[in-house]
Amino acid sequence: MDAAITIVGAGPAGLALARELQRRGVRPVLLERGQVGETWARQYQGLRLHALASASGLPGMPLPAVSGPFPSAPEMARYLRAYAQRFGIDVREGVTLEAAEPTPAAAGGGEHSERHDDDGDHDDDGDDGDHGDHGDHGDHGDHGVPPGWRLRTDRGAWHTRRLVMATGIWSAPVEPALPGRERYGGRASHVASYRGPEELAGARVLVVGLGNSGKDVALAAARVAEQATVAVQRGALFVDYPNALTQHSGELWRRLPPRVAAALLRRVRREHAVGDLRWPERPLTEVYPVVGLELVEAVRAGEVRVRPAMTAFTEAGARFADGDEDAFDVIVLCTGYRPALDPLAAHLRWDVSGLPRTDDAGLRALDAPGLYLFGYHYPTLETWLQRLRREAPAAARAIAADVRREADGAPDQASRSPAEA
Ligand SMILES: Cc1cc2nc3c(=O)[nH]c(=O)nc-3n(C[C@H](O)[C@H](O)[C@H](O)COP(=O)(O)OP(=O)(O)OC[C@H]3O[C@@H](n4cnc5c(N)ncnc54)[C@H](O)[C@@H]3O)c2cc1C
Repeated sequence: MDAAITIVGAGPAGLALARELQRRGVRPVLLERGQVGETWARQYQGLRLHALASASGLPGMPLPAVSGPFPSAPEMARYLRAYAQRFGIDVREGVTLEAAEPTPAAAGGGEHSERHDDDGDHDDDGDDGDHGDHGDHGDHGDHGVPPGWRLRTDRGAWHTRRLVMATGIWSAPVEPALPGRERYGGRASHVASYRGPEELAGARVLVVGLGNSGKDVALAAARVAEQATVAVQRGALFVDYPNALTQHSGELWRRLPPRVAAALLRRVRREHAVGDLRWPERPLTEVYPVVGLELVEAVRAGEVRVRPAMTAFTEAGARFADGDEDAFDVIVLCTGYRPALDPLAAHLRWDVSGLPRTDDAGLRALDAPGLYLFGYHYPTLETWLQRLRREAPAAARAIAADVRREADGAPDQASRSPAEA
């Protein structure tokens, strides 16, 4: 198969970007290994967004608050499916990208942009969506191979002129290399495969890492397990559930100089650093908070114990940074995720943040013309979905401009040297 623009991933990032591209007259094809909204459809029982519905919708369609102000994961999955339908987004479900490699870029490369006018929404960013004719020019370079990207999927080969990765983080769980795992006699797994409290019932449970998932699992353990413990390495920043005012204050915080913002945040949030739940060591402006204070209450009430970082598995459980050991039947690693970009691993140079080198907007890969990354940067002072919603129009505008430039015979921003770009 051949496409002008392929987006890999039909989660919030891929869908928001697709909708914004379509408004600009460029119609992408999305490849999705599961179904639309797969990540949200497969989440553990009881997961709710930690942000208000009013702040978590994608461009052009509000997320309804059906069962309360914080939608459940199944509600989010349903919303994403409705979003894809509403905007007629072309998603090929059940197609997993296994590997991608660039085909040689040739001057005046072929372009198969399918033009499509979306739902007639007014264009609130002043971009009129008319980019001329970008139909297939049929120039496939010196060797008859169209320039762009050759994709190997589990459903066959695919060629695309431009490739946008929007695969998120959830399919790339990070597990720390803790020694002794092979000796451990209990059940240890990453929270990505955790499905619900029944996995914890009656057990001595250790939760390693304290982000929002760690908080959820620890609270579930406090309810159903024999004993609940969390191991905390770098502290956690707890904030109360947002209201309409605080949820939308990110823009204000971002305008402050970072040092002023950090000092103010420390003042505002001091009351929630409790006992062994240490304050994070990083500047508060760089910390994604744990939303909701129930775990703080559970620690205060003695329902959840707090230990320092886990340093090793033992036969019966875990060893901690202070040298203590304890027995656990179940260890849940809530140790985070990384960008799910393995299919590209062989062809790119990576920067210290674990992402391919990109332009200043964090969108165009510098070492690979025709490759874009969308939705991988951890947000600060706003939620992930708020950031996606904020950035999707600008990203679509930039990609549409590259399409237009190529149609006019000029090079992409990304195919110039960084100094030129
Ligand atoms: C447990 C959890 C709770 C969260 N809660 C919130 C919250 O309350 N609020 C918030 O703003 N953010 C939250 N986040 C952050 C979350 O990652 C984003 O909100 C959101 O889902 C990101 O959208 P995305 O499209 O980038 O990633 P995803 O939603 O993960 O979508 C990526 C898609 O790419 C597909 N994919 C991956 N690899 C391939 C491949 N090789 N081939 C084909 N398809 C592929 C996946 O199946 C998936 O559908 C949470 C994250 C997690 C893990």
